[in-house]
Amino acid sequence: MRMTDLIERKERPVVSFEFFPPRDELAADKLDGVIDRLAALHPDFVSVTFGAGGSTREGSYQLARKLIQEKGLDVVTYFAGYGLSPDDITSVLDRYAELGVETLFVVRGDKPRDTDGFIPHPESFQHASELLDFIRPRYDFCLGAAGYPEGHPEAPSREKDLEYCRLKVNNGAEFIIAQYCYDNECFFDFVQRARSIGITVPIIPGVMPIYGVKLMEGLAKVCGATIPDAVRDGLAQLPQDDPKAVVRYGIDFATSQCRELLKHGVDGLHFYTMDRSNTIIEVVNRLREEALL
Ligand SMILES: Cc1cc2nc3c(=O)[nH]c(=O)nc-3n(C[C@H](O)[C@H](O)[C@H](O)COP(=O)(O)OP(=O)(O)OC[C@H]3O[C@@H](n4cnc5c(N)ncnc54)[C@H](O)[C@@H]3O)c2cc1C
Repeated sequence: MRMTDLIERKERPVVSFEFFPPRDELAADKLDGVIDRLAALHPDFVSVTFGAGGSTREGSYQLARKLIQEKGLDVVTYFAGYGLSPDDITSVLDRYAELGVETLFVVRGDKPRDTDGFIPHPESFQHASELLDFIRPRYDFCLGAAGYPEGHPEAPSREKDLEYCRLKVNNGAEFIIAQYCYDNECFFDFVQRARSIGITVPIIPGVMPIYGVKLMEGLAKVCGATIPDAVRDGLAQLPQDDPKAVVRYGIDFATSQCRELLKHGVDGLHFYTMDRSNTIIEVVNRLREEALL
């Protein structure tokens, strides 16, 4: 599946689920059930993350293989090139191409957190735009790249970050998946600013449901996502020590966020599953009941 063909052909917005490779057998067994439950929603594609520095190289490959060959799903593989040599890159991508992967989402990645003493290869690429420039002439993948409605945490400004996003498009990215944000206005503004500087490719919003307070806060820190006061206030009003109430709040919040995105005419919704299924099943079912999906 080439992402651009999918978006062009689809009559309804594209629905997709992102998985990361499991760390151990227990997590793998759990993920298997999650995949089956989410596959029953018939997503347009699922995606597999890739640990920067090659930290999940084999796990990502095995998960992509399983999703394609055993689960019969359309898969977009991610590739994070941080620290890898050109030879490392081609050895990973050759295997994805052999597997039949047609769409590759390319990110720079960050320094791996749990790989002590990792030393980036001296010939590794500094930015995703350089990775795209390297990959485009060598492979027939439909390529995608990341966009940041709130600006990437390291960027000198949102304007500069958007210029680098345009460079990724100029270097071969045919679609953008946006980092999640809890305020849709921020996403709409990002799209409008992108269009105003000549970025015309589809931009799909990432949706990160609130699964738990600690997880929400930890992810927001890493990803540079703002937690709106309304969300903090909403969570503060829930009964203390009731994780189920937080999950219910997360479902309601994600449903209303997605409802607004869909009414605004987005090309798709890309759900960050965190390898969980219940919240997303509920959100997608509610949106389908309302005939929005
Ligand atoms: C949908 C999505 C999926 C992701 N999946 C993964 C994954 O599977 N694995 C993973 O490790 N990470 C993943 N990430 C996280 C991503 O790797 C990090 O956000 C990373 O810090 C930046 O990646 P990038 O591709 O946006 O980098 P870049 O586009 O290279 O940008 C990184 C920083 O450098 C700046 N910059 C870009 N180009 C230039 C330039 N030419 N000169 C100077 N500065 C420049 C940008 O403004 C930004 O601040 C994902 C992010 C998103 C949104």
